[in-house]
Amino acid sequence: APHRVVDVHELLDSTLMMLSGKIPADVTVVRDYDRELPSVPAYPGELNQVWTNLIDNALSAMAGSGRLTVRTAVDHENVLVEFGDTGPGVPEEIRDRIFEPFFTTKPVGEGTGLGLDISWRIVVNRHHGDLRVESVPGDTRFRVQLPITDREA
Ligand code: ADP
Ligand code: MG
Repeated sequence: APHRVVDVHELLDSTLMMLSGKIPADVTVVRDYDRELPSVPAYPGELNQVWTNLIDNALSAMAGSGRLTVRTAVDHENVLVEFGDTGPGVPEEIRDRIFEPFFTTKPVGEGTGLGLDISWRIVVNRHHGDLRVESVPGDTRFRVQLPITDREA
């Protein structure tokens, strides 16, 4: 279990900074951070990979224009990190399968179908958190829950 205490906002900012060159001019990035957010026990390099995968997916769903919202909040014993996009959404009929390894709707050579599988395993297996999606056209949210206190530590 992770012992390093991580400032989630610092980590999100550094991921966004790393990706800034990939963010199209017509995509607006909105940071909606909870100032009271506590630090969490985490593996920062792995969470950086999760943020990168989720932002990458949001950017490709929006195909050049839209709004990416990165929101944080405290919910009971968890820190929530939500990535919202204004793309077309995840169709209901594939929603159960997007976390499976190698599932992709992208053309051959563009998507490996591993981003969500790896992200899910990092969040759930490595951090004892949860990763879920809520999606309607124009409003898709991938929500990461990270326990503030890792009881399995
Ligand atoms: P890849 O990005 O290589 O396709 P992922 O595991 O990251 O693999 O995502 C799997 C699939 O989930 C994508 O191909 C896409 O169909 C769907 N998906 C993921 N994120 C989004 C999103 N923000 N909006 C719409 N669909 C998404
Ligand atoms: Mg992906």
